[in-house]
Amino acid sequence: MTMPLLNAVTGPGMRIILHVDMDAFFAAVEMREHPEIRGRPVIVGADPKEGKGRGVVCTASYEARVFGIVSAMPISKAFLLCPGGVFVRPHFNLYSQASDEVMEIVKDTSLQFEQVSIDEAYLDISQVGNYSAARATAIALKEAIRNKTGLTCSIGVGPSKVVAKIASDYRKPDGLTVVEPDSVFEFLFPLPVGKIPGVGRKSRETLHNLGIRTIGDLARIDVQELIALFGKWGAVIHDLARGTDDREVRQEEGYKSISREVTFEQDTSENIILLQTLNEMAAELHAVLVNEHLRFRTITVKVRDEHFITRTRSKTNERYSDDPHLIQQFSQGLLPELPEGKKIRLIGLRLSGFEPKGPRQTTIYEFLR
Ligand SMILES: [Mg+2]
Repeated sequence: MTMPLLNAVTGPGMRIILHVDMDAFFAAVEMREHPEIRGRPVIVGADPKEGKGRGVVCTASYEARVFGIVSAMPISKAFLLCPGGVFVRPHFNLYSQASDEVMEIVKDTSLQFEQVSIDEAYLDISQVGNYSAARATAIALKEAIRNKTGLTCSIGVGPSKVVAKIASDYRKPDGLTVVEPDSVFEFLFPLPVGKIPGVGRKSRETLHNLGIRTIGDLARIDVQELIALFGKWGAVIHDLARGTDDREVRQEEGYKSISREVTFEQDTSENIILLQTLNEMAAELHAVLVNEHLRFRTITVKVRDEHFITRTRSKTNERYSDDPHLIQQFSQGLLPELPEGKKIRLIGLRLSGFEPKGPRQTTIYEFLR
């Protein structure tokens, strides 16, 4: 295979990044709590109401994915696909506690630890020195998580965040994929272009129209063409396609914000779906607040429409609070200011402006992972 591109991720100063991602996390926690539903198709999300329910799927177990059920799918569609499935309403406080159990173990592996969502984290493990030691570290971490929490994860190891992240998704569930620097192209190039984080359905369609189907196709195209199409983002995805990603594993000093967002499987203009999704996110964020003993002042709602126009609206309260009704009330109040008539593809909710607390280098949720 000819490789006209210079591999930019080898050489001195090489980093070893590990990405850990829990498998079907919410569903796995439900199955841990209720052994009688193990092995069954478990769908965590809104109430399906015999197929008439609004709202979406949060997480589907691997048994449910066999039926074609995926996250962010309308719950009514999930019910049609698998009426005999176990439909469970989310218990976010439980997931938040399970997340803490997992992250305590992950943090023990390296001081350079960055949690990016409730069930995902990066570690910089460059200090282990080489990739066979990195593989051993990853195996030990998977075992520790399984033994101490009864949950499985998938791990990717590579020379940058993007490679580690794509690698953790490569064999799921319970997978381990180690990509050494000199096999980054070999690993990435055959994969579909949608595997690049941030390349969603719309960008994928645009790229497909250009004949770009694999990550290799993307890496080989002239970057100027991508910039013409996507602006700066074009240059970013061109870099990511070659595994080039300078982002460091950042240690956070306490929470700056906690957030949650959902990209709908089908764009929607139904207000009730937006409201229900917002309420679910409010419940999840409230569980995190309580679990972490935090009180917030600012709430932000983000909405991205079908044309990729993103709008955010914020409101700052006078007093710090951890009142769940306030979160719901505020977020619903912010929603109607957003454009009507347009279909919405993504909705997000963020809490920030926390009461000052002692430094803490754990869990941070971000709008973008
Ligand atoms: Mg996961």
